[in-house]
Amino acid sequence: MTQRLYYDSSYLTHFDAQVTAVGALDGQPAATLDRTAFYPSGGGQPHDTGALNDVTVLEVRSQGDAIWHLLAAPATLGAPVQGQVDWSRRLDHMQNHSGQHILSQAFIATAGAQTVAWRLSDHSLTIDLGQASLSDGQMADAERLAAQVVQQNLPISARFVAEAELPTLHLRKQPDVEGPLRVVEIGDFDRVACGGLHVASTAQVGLIKLLRAERRGPETRIHFVCGQRALADYQRKHETVRSLASRFTCGEDELAQAIQRLQDQADSNFKALRAAQAELVTAEAARLLASAAASGLITGHYPAWEGEQVKQLALALRSQPGLVIALAGGNGQLFLASSDGAFDAGQTLRGALAAVGGRGGGRPDFAQGAAPTWDAAQQALKLIETAVEG
Ligand SMILES: [Zn+2]
Repeated sequence: MTQRLYYDSSYLTHFDAQVTAVGALDGQPAATLDRTAFYPSGGGQPHDTGALNDVTVLEVRSQGDAIWHLLAAPATLGAPVQGQVDWSRRLDHMQNHSGQHILSQAFIATAGAQTVAWRLSDHSLTIDLGQASLSDGQMADAERLAAQVVQQNLPISARFVAEAELPTLHLRKQPDVEGPLRVVEIGDFDRVACGGLHVASTAQVGLIKLLRAERRGPETRIHFVCGQRALADYQRKHETVRSLASRFTCGEDELAQAIQRLQDQADSNFKALRAAQAELVTAEAARLLASAAASGLITGHYPAWEGEQVKQLALALRSQPGLVIALAGGNGQLFLASSDGAFDAGQTLRGALAAVGGRGGGRPDFAQGAAPTWDAAQQALKLIETAVEG
């Protein structure tokens, strides 16, 4: 049985111990100790990392009464070891776990919403609230209350209590295990059964920042960040805002307007471009009509045009009788139209493209497809010309 030093103090990072068993877990060398400050994965909180002497502790697992340390190299049975817990990782877990307790109680107080599940990983922290939707106002109220609790610097403590005492404690959530339980208290604000590790006071949680709410059937998942994570998140977002303001040469408060102006400008440019393209299609259709061969074949090459524009040109020409129109656009696109259906555009285009490694097809009066390159598209056009003139 391993003595769990982290329950005596969640701030203990260095300790002496002895190796009591060695083995392997998932192919990784592993060891148990007579005592450890390494917290194993459990109760929603991720495991610690660190070192035993100079061997890296990769993962920590609880199995029955024993705590297994998964190691980068094998340990020696009976050997004395010095343990060192990675403090920045532990503090991150404690800040976010304590922040979760505060926010869960804050959502009960402000929105009557119970936390039904929570998750903490190295990258994300979420609680699932048993309520289908929450207003922006309720989110802001819960965030504000959580901030007040942090600023009040309430003590956070943990103790083991007998089962008989539980009904008098008015826990936030009914525990689903029997026997003596560890209860974590945040002043008079929150009390819940929890086996995880916490900072000593709410001030040490630092900032609790809600990021977004995600609707999940009858529940709402709240994504948030606490402590050092929240600071890093703020720094990253501030840098984004600062660099955008610098690019738009405006104040941070004027960014939304500046982006709106840019969008409006892009919309009006787009409309002007479409109008100019339509005029160009009309003019080009007239020019091509005048150049139609005796066979009725019209060919055209438009490497700089968008496919849609080339397609519009083919469709405009198709309205004239007795024509077969074969046009190549940028990226090797090909369009073949037959105005009176006497010539099967779909079948011809499919055959010509297949011969040059491309794909396409369509109806007898209109077909489209693409060759792998511009040169291959030109070869396919030649095959189509031969087919029409034959
Ligand atoms: Zn907890």
